[in-house]
Amino acid sequence: MLLDYHLHPDYSIDAGGSMREYAQAALEKGLGEICFTTHLDLVPERMHLDGFVRICGKFLSVNDRWIPHYLREIEGLRKEYEEKGLVIKAGVEIDYHPKIVGEIRAIVEEYPFDYVLGAVHSLEGHSIAIPEDCRAFCRGRTAEEVCRQYFSLVIEAIQCGLFDTIAHLDLYKRFSYSIYGHAIEQAHLLVWEQVLSAFSSSNVGIEINTGNWRKGLSQPSPSSDQLIDLIGAGVATVTVGSDAHLPHLVGKDITKAIEFARKAGCLQIHTYSKRRPAVALLLDKEHKAAE
Ligand SMILES: [Zn+2]
Ligand SMILES: [Zn+2]
Repeated sequence: MLLDYHLHPDYSIDAGGSMREYAQAALEKGLGEICFTTHLDLVPERMHLDGFVRICGKFLSVNDRWIPHYLREIEGLRKEYEEKGLVIKAGVEIDYHPKIVGEIRAIVEEYPFDYVLGAVHSLEGHSIAIPEDCRAFCRGRTAEEVCRQYFSLVIEAIQCGLFDTIAHLDLYKRFSYSIYGHAIEQAHLLVWEQVLSAFSSSNVGIEINTGNWRKGLSQPSPSSDQLIDLIGAGVATVTVGSDAHLPHLVGKDITKAIEFARKAGCLQIHTYSKRRPAVALLLDKEHKAAE
């Protein structure tokens, strides 16, 4: 079964395409399961830029009561597409920041999400997911300084206990190659033991995010050396996601990501229901995937 656990329908202001268009595209591409993970960004320094959602073409503050509408729409599609052979789950991608832990906790406790993806996009008010902004943050900093700052937030995100998995673990690489070149590939090593230890002491999983391939990088996120270490450190739950922001990218490079996972020694790919993981794909060393 093919699946995609990282999708941004047009509730995310940086995405296009309705959830129905995504579901239809997934069905046409033969996917068996998808999970919508719209952005929920409450980072104080970026609220004026990111703190919005789009519903039926209208912009609302992320603080307005929009999540019930989002979940109802997913529920409607879930029933409709179940009969057609596509399972649809309700997830969310939340930007971690230490100042908003209480708000994140209230949201994940109030709403019945299947899957909560934690991410670190923002460093000192800069979004490292936006090319110019990432480069502005990196200017004047070494690759090691960027990693130290990024991973200190990732470790907090793991330890806060609010997230099922951490999204695109090496997002800092995506737009900083033009500044650091290959030096960025090893820059995490200074803090890597602490990152592995944080994962080992938690039940937080990891996603393999195929977005890096579309940005011209040779590896997805995390890279193979990182994934091997994470599996070795006992990370037991692994999801795969395209991070599609347009319907035609649903399922993009997922087969390649599953093969990448297998080569790194990861032999299970997971789905989530009501925040609980389940094995969706078992991979063996000879690469026979079975449900
Ligand atoms: Zn993200
Ligand atoms: Zn995303």
